[in-house]
Amino acid sequence: MSPTNAEVFAHAQSVIPGGVNSPVRAYGSVGGTPPFLASARGAYVTDVEGREYVDLVGSWGPALLGHAHPAVVEAVQQAAARGLSFGAPTTTETELVAAIRHRVPSAENVRLVSTGTEATMTALRLARAVTGRDLVVKFAGCYHGHVDALLAQAGSGLATLALPGSAGVSAAVAAETIVLPYNDLAAVEAAFAEHGPRIAAVITEAAPANMGVVPPVPGYNAALRRLTLEHGALLIQDEVLTGFRVGFSGWWGLEGLREGWSPDLFTFGKVIGGGLPVAAVGGRRDVMRMLAPVGPVYQAGTLSGNPVATAAGLATLQHADATVYRTVDEASTRLREAVTHALAHAGVPHAMQWAGSLFSIMFGPGAATGGARDYAAVQATEHWRYGPFFHALLEAGVSAPPSPFEAWFVSAAHDDEALSRIEAALPAAARAAAEA
Ligand code: PMP
Repeated sequence: MSPTNAEVFAHAQSVIPGGVNSPVRAYGSVGGTPPFLASARGAYVTDVEGREYVDLVGSWGPALLGHAHPAVVEAVQQAAARGLSFGAPTTTETELVAAIRHRVPSAENVRLVSTGTEATMTALRLARAVTGRDLVVKFAGCYHGHVDALLAQAGSGLATLALPGSAGVSAAVAAETIVLPYNDLAAVEAAFAEHGPRIAAVITEAAPANMGVVPPVPGYNAALRRLTLEHGALLIQDEVLTGFRVGFSGWWGLEGLREGWSPDLFTFGKVIGGGLPVAAVGGRRDVMRMLAPVGPVYQAGTLSGNPVATAAGLATLQHADATVYRTVDEASTRLREAVTHALAHAGVPHAMQWAGSLFSIMFGPGAATGGARDYAAVQATEHWRYGPFFHALLEAGVSAPPSPFEAWFVSAAHDDEALSRIEAALPAAARAAAEA
């Protein structure tokens, strides 16, 4: 007989902190036992008990094409048969970087790493080296990985667990980070007026999706570009989550490309690894050439540019064509409308917040009038309605993100059948949210 989720979770908890290797997976904010997954294909995941769910987590971003896309699995199998890791350069790495640059030409040079955390950490180090300055500006509710300097008011799992930051970050490091409210240009101007000559960089999620989805107000990112240029600081646009998910050229393709500007540095991850560990930092050639072995900024990785992982990323980008982005956009629109319809029918005031194909739900009358534009507004929503809503969906075989502070991820494999299953589950979930 197969084990139950409760049994394997209990065993995991006895040997792994919280039973998970990344906090949000533990269902901390929604409660209950997380299904332990045995397999995934297309729009569906299956747990160790043999239950199938329509998946809206998508590995938190990488599964743009759907799980285990045949072309990606084939590329991985072929690469694996040639060897798992060499610690020497391969042509696949250059091909993947070329595919990234084709979509985002202002990523003139790119360095591959294994996680988004490494990418943002390297971007900060570069910014400090180039400017000779020490301070970094980040926005409350934006998550950039578990880099010491970027954990203050960081959204994602910290929002889920209601943590202001992390223990174990030294006061000296914390003092080098200025945390500002998101979507508030006056706050950025004031920070530059006060600390301008010491600010190395402003780092921002291209469109924040780790405090729930909070899109930038029109012109916000362009204004960050203008202000950083005026004050000699670098702009780091974190597209680990949005990159090559919200469109062919990521969020930059929806904004900077049209408006004719670019950040100094981008960070990418998730989709460019197609489900295996690949992330990247890229941008201005002169800045990127500060990296060793060309320049004095050290950065390295045993598994960086791993041949199997880069093969998965390359195959994913090769298959992420205009049809994929159209399909994902259409599925997302249909789902947003279905959620809104069900919640309105059940009389639950809410705002549907979205950026490209990413969306999340903010509950409460406050959110319903105008939506949430920053982390403080997000925290003031009725986020406790999400747990019952989430569990009613799970009960009906729909796996939404287990936190109100995360985006919902749809894939190109979310076809009519998958979407219909979600739609069928929504009325009961909406009633659960109403009764919460
Ligand atoms: N930046 C953003 C915007 C992210 O969403 C994430 C992960 N969710 C990261 C950085 C960190 O990436 P990783 O988990 O691969 O370290």
